[in-house]
Amino acid sequence: MARIIKRRRRKRRVRRECLRCGRVFMSEGNFNRICPSCREVNANIAMNAAEVSFDHDYYGFTK
Ligand SMILES: [Zn+2]
Repeated sequence: MARIIKRRRRKRRVRRECLRCGRVFMSEGNFNRICPSCREVNANIAMNAAEVSFDHDYYGFTK
């Protein structure tokens, strides 16, 4: 009896190259183009940028 194994992929996991570091990682979707470690860096940068702009605004305000 031939048995066909059907593999259903619920999540489409694709190998992608990170746009930032070029490392290959498993992406969970088309939207995901940055590897997890770079996403962390991105978040940190965003936070730093927010802090910097806040400082800038702050000093600009007191001037
Ligand atoms: Zn990366």
